[in-house]
Amino acid sequence: MKLKNLEMALQRCEGYTRPTAALEQYQTPAPLAARLLFDALMSGDIEGKRVCDPGCGTGVLAIGAALLGAESVTGIEIDEGALATARANAALLEANVEFIQGDVKDALLPQRIEACDTVIMNPPFGAQRVHADRPFIDFALEVAPVTYGIFNAGSIPFVETYTAQRAAITAKTGGKFQIKRTFAFHTKDIQEIEVEILRLKRIP
Ligand code: SAH
Repeated sequence: MKLKNLEMALQRCEGYTRPTAALEQYQTPAPLAARLLFDALMSGDIEGKRVCDPGCGTGVLAIGAALLGAESVTGIEIDEGALATARANAALLEANVEFIQGDVKDALLPQRIEACDTVIMNPPFGAQRVHADRPFIDFALEVAPVTYGIFNAGSIPFVETYTAQRAAITAKTGGKFQIKRTFAFHTKDIQEIEVEILRLKRIP
């Protein structure tokens, strides 16, 4: 599948029906999701791999990984409403993804999922709750040797410090995240946020 076709497929995914600000529920725009997935594909981290998407929301990243030939994909999400949309999106795009309800902060969660090779994630950036992305990073490094994550631009010093001795950043791609007016505190119709896609390789 070409990048453009993946982007068009992911464009068809429905968004959150009732987004919650505290959970930072922003669906990754299709072009950015496709970019992350293609970077991962080109690095050999998707095709034939067991992939996990913590905080999968409406399933865009998980579904994309399945469409690109992952051996298995598990999407984990705390919010049942988002999971229902994710399941409907996967059915629409005929993507084989196992979606489970779970909290990444739950220490027992890793035991509930199969071992995996690659984590793909767009975690909360911590705009509503400071450091909301930390448990996602911890979970990712626990369950997989390779992680792709979307972070606010300028997060590299934080990620490097936070993952010191545990992982190294081996690739980065810049991107833009367009956020449509969703919550009452949003002042613009569309806000563009600079982000970076980081590849983390766990230190054995
Ligand atoms: N990965 C999706 C959603 C990004 S928004 C996408 O790329 O479109 C972040 C998601 O993380 C939201 O759906 C939110 O409900 C979920 N989330 C927030 N805290 C969580 C937690 N502790 N455990 C699991 N999911 C969580």
